[in-house]
Amino acid sequence: MSPTPRTAVFPGSFDPLTNGHVDIIVRATRLFDRVVVAVAMNAEKTPLFSIDERVGLIREVFRDHLSVQVDTFNGLLVEYARQQGASALIRGLRAVSDFEYEFQMALMNRNLAPGIETVFLVPAFDLTYLSSSLVREVARFGGDVSQLVHPKVQQALKRKFGT
Ligand code: ADP
Repeated sequence: MSPTPRTAVFPGSFDPLTNGHVDIIVRATRLFDRVVVAVAMNAEKTPLFSIDERVGLIREVFRDHLSVQVDTFNGLLVEYARQQGASALIRGLRAVSDFEYEFQMALMNRNLAPGIETVFLVPAFDLTYLSSSLVREVARFGGDVSQLVHPKVQQALKRKFGT
């Protein structure tokens, strides 16, 4: 009998996907049979890329990774994770500054769904400073982001800012 496939959900804004996110997703695929990258439909934020644009870019970057699926979610993350049959939530930890918020979230999510574990993954050292907001700022002023994002994301940023 083959074991039950293990699914993890990696939630976030991904506005846009950076090489830091890519690093975490690839690491997660080594631990789980199926990784669902779940783009949050957060009405409070004004994103640079629409939800469809963000989903489309992640799908393009991971088109050859059969174990990676891309989706959107609304409302409670743990509810969504349950619907996906996930046993884990993936989060990336960059610096101590991420820790307090992530720790709170992990404990709250465990309260809500005791069967779902939060798994923290650490990116490659040279990606630890990277964030979507930094990429947006650099790209907005025409800076070179080729080391920070996938070429498809770089093209999309160029189109967005006309740089
Ligand atoms: P959120 O709004 O949920 O923080 P983000 O898209 O900014 O959405 O981040 C999603 C997840 O990816 C978070 O767990 C975040 O810590 C992680 N992450 C973002 N950038 C990096 C990076 N450079 N290295 C590792 N993890 C990262």
